[in-house]
Amino acid sequence: MAYEKEKEIAIAAVQAAATVCEKVRAEMVPEAIEKSDKSPVTVADFGAQAIVCKMIKDAFPNDPIVGEEDADDLKTPEMASRLAQVTNYVKVVLPDATDEQIPGWIDQGNGDVSPRYWTLDPIDGTKGFLRGDQYAVALAMVEDGDIKVGVLGCPALKLGDRSGILFVAIRGGGAMMMNMDGSNPEKISVTSSSDIPNFRFVESVAHGDQDLHARIAQAAGITTDSIRMDSQAKYGAVASGNAVLYLRLPSAKYPNYREKIWDHAAGVLVIEEAGGKVTDMHGKTLDFSKEPRFVDTQGVIVSNGEIHDKVLAALAN
Ligand code: AMP
Ligand code: MG
Repeated sequence: MAYEKEKEIAIAAVQAAATVCEKVRAEMVPEAIEKSDKSPVTVADFGAQAIVCKMIKDAFPNDPIVGEEDADDLKTPEMASRLAQVTNYVKVVLPDATDEQIPGWIDQGNGDVSPRYWTLDPIDGTKGFLRGDQYAVALAMVEDGDIKVGVLGCPALKLGDRSGILFVAIRGGGAMMMNMDGSNPEKISVTSSSDIPNFRFVESVAHGDQDLHARIAQAAGITTDSIRMDSQAKYGAVASGNAVLYLRLPSAKYPNYREKIWDHAAGVLVIEEAGGKVTDMHGKTLDFSKEPRFVDTQGVIVSNGEIHDKVLAALAN
């Protein structure tokens, strides 16, 4: 099958990064460092990005990686002890790692959107990670603007009997969910709107216009309250049929917010391969061929496909 090597490496990289994130969460109270945009970053974000970039670059040296983090904040002398913490955690999965190598591995994620590239959010939902809630390690490979491989590691996600879920999708090859160690794989698909218990919607804990979400969901016939969840775990909830809709509409506070490609690429492929649909709030396709932030789309609507037009129509009113 196409992209077999990409899939194998992506799964191994996400598993290794997720192992380290879970270890950080179990062993320390991860302290948030504030980035220039005021969003938090932790030892685990840096460690996860170092691991994934190192493993992708070893296997595909010519592929650029567009990652969320960079090592600028780790390179100063005052940050030496923080860097040592990152190295110690990376060593759990890459035992030969050194303090000298780590910033370079992280900065391999400073690549550009290119004809073929990877995009990585080492910890999507850092706020959820800090709070003890949902987060995801999100990795995707894009060729000519088309997402070909998507892997979403959600170590804290519980669905049915599963605890810790890895979503994997290959363009044209369907979407699967499995345990974080790869065991018990299962093909997934979105659910139909007649599946009453799952006819519900998900939204972010921290972002988006929750009042507007409630109104739009109601217009689409959803009568129950939302499930609030951090990270692209929301894509997994819809792709596996545990909800029919994920709304992410710009909040009044940030009306011109442009979504970032690494917050969506892996999730979009998982949804599309599970039979669902993703557009922006005006029905436009998300464009992964240009910039790290979408240039001409706003907000994100993720659905089981069936109710997509109804949601767009409600938004147009
Ligand atoms: P979530 O856990 O769904 O809230 O998504 C987390 C992601 O939201 C982070 O990775 C940020 O890149 C992104 N983000 C930050 N600010 C905003 C905003 N104002 N609107 C939408 N997303 C945002
Ligand atoms: Mg993110």
